Amino acid sequence: MGKITYDFSDETVIVTGGTSGIGREVARRFGEAGATVIVADIREEPKEDGESAPTHELVEDNGGRAEFVETDVSDPEDVGAVVEAAREFGGVDVMVNNAGIYREASLIETDADAFDQVFAINVRGVFAGCRAAARDMLDRGEPGSIVNTASISSEYAQVGHSMYDASKGAVMMLTRVAALELARHDIRVNAVAPGIIETTFGAGNPDFDRELGDGFILNDAELPDLNAQEIDPEIPMGHMGTPEDLAGSYLFLASDEADYITGHLLYVDGGYQIL
Ligand code: NAD
Repeated sequence: MGKITYDFSDETVIVTGGTSGIGREVARRFGEAGATVIVADIREEPKEDGESAPTHELVEDNGGRAEFVETDVSDPEDVGAVVEAAREFGGVDVMVNNAGIYREASLIETDADAFDQVFAINVRGVFAGCRAAARDMLDRGEPGSIVNTASISSEYAQVGHSMYDASKGAVMMLTRVAALELARHDIRVNAVAPGIIETTFGAGNPDFDRELGDGFILNDAELPDLNAQEIDPEIPMGHMGTPEDLAGSYLFLASDEADYITGHLLYVDGGYQIL
């Protein structure tokens, strides 16, 4: 059916968590649409298979312009530095706050430090990204667009998800408050809410282990096994999504096609939120 072609030439896009999974495909698509892409991640090598090229090389191989800036989104100084790096290309026009981690444990077993760690990346990281990008856009007197990665978990509670669902609920409200405060400045803030997407997200997440050490792997036996046979029937459309299914919604929300849309949570979930 119909196909939209986007043009982001002359625009600079930062994608946090752009090395792997959803962020990688979002970065690739913005690059394909002509943007200069800055991939901001704690790692340069993709998690997927250890053999794929880093995202900035993938973008360049497709004729785009891209660079990698090592960034830990839980550190607001790092996030400020990546926005500063975008100045070299004229300043950030589109900020995609996508980096996130997942951890699962029952409420009574959840360690408070683990809770803080999920919030530091999933919530403070998005806050820092919104703030740094908005400050830069306002300083330059330029319009802009911010797209955050929320989740079906922003509004859908699941057993064992006290850390993750609370963090994604916060991303939804951050998106709305930022949208309100920035609306008169021509800066739109929206969020994509993915459903269950095939990435290396989830079980045994090394980002979390790296930060907290082995002692914080909670209830490994209960970590979700993204087993398609069990999950697919639960999804109204009958199958998990892919990063390719999602990426277009980021370009749409960032583009002029969405110029009267702000504070919106766009579900891309095969119908999961209907349940
Ligand atoms: P992923 O693990 O494949 O990719 C996440 C990326 O974030 C990785 O490249 C990782 O290195 C990076 N990252 C982790 N901690 C970071 C930090 N402190 N600073 C900078 N980068 C960091 O996961 P994904 O599935 O692509 O997830 C991307 C986003 O989508 C997350 O916010 C996640 O919560 C959200 N999401 C995923 C799903 C899903 O089913 N996969 C569903 C809903 C929402």
